[in-house]
Amino acid sequence: CGIVGYIGFRDAYPIIIKGLHRLEYRGYDSAGIALAEKGLKVYKKAGKVSDLEDFVKGITFTATAGMGHTRWATHGPPSDRNSHPHSSGDRKLTIIHNGIIENYGVIKEALLAKGHVFKSDTDTEVLIHLVEDIQKSTGLDLNEAVRLALNRVVGAYAIVVMSADRPDELIAARKGSPMVIGVGKGEYLIASDATPIVEYTKNVIYLNDNEIAYIKRDDLLIKNIDNTVQTPYIQELSLKL
Ligand code: GLU
Repeated sequence: CGIVGYIGFRDAYPIIIKGLHRLEYRGYDSAGIALAEKGLKVYKKAGKVSDLEDFVKGITFTATAGMGHTRWATHGPPSDRNSHPHSSGDRKLTIIHNGIIENYGVIKEALLAKGHVFKSDTDTEVLIHLVEDIQKSTGLDLNEAVRLALNRVVGAYAIVVMSADRPDELIAARKGSPMVIGVGKGEYLIASDATPIVEYTKNVIYLNDNEIAYIKRDDLLIKNIDNTVQTPYIQELSLKL
């Protein structure tokens, strides 16, 4: 029920955990993180954000890019394996998602027939396998594969995708579920609302429905899912916390 992403020059882990705590009021049953740490490292747990913190206690993180998620289960009961992030079959891609992929059933059937093996009961895992499948069958790059996959999705989503092969990029998209991008100097934040962002920057972009943001430390490209480039509208937050 909450999403936080960071890419920049600071330690990503504390920013993401703090952001997840700020989104706790939205309610959730599980939490997880992915960090661009020697490729990608994923940690997830049913329970509170503090349970996730206990779970990773003692591990030193150095990643300056990553993402975190709190889950409000809709497809599959709260459990460690149904917690987000969910990864592709080859484990190179990973996704966090708020919302519901309504047509996940038909997509899952087609992917099962192609030999995909699923590790969770979620609608979300189907989406990342679809991205992997499109990438492998078309040879297109990840940006395009995500865009094409989203064109096949019926439902509501706010997602962030990371790739072990492209640890310096985050791909974020939304339709129906909220998503805000904080624009800093050499850093970007992503969150379900502005509360995890305000501490770092007051400049934000409210992503519109059907938009995808391709984010690097020093570059942001926003496209509509029909592939037209959008001019981002940067607003200044007046929010006081
Ligand atoms: N539908 C997804 C799931 O059940 C995401 C739920 C959410 O918005 O947290 O895992």
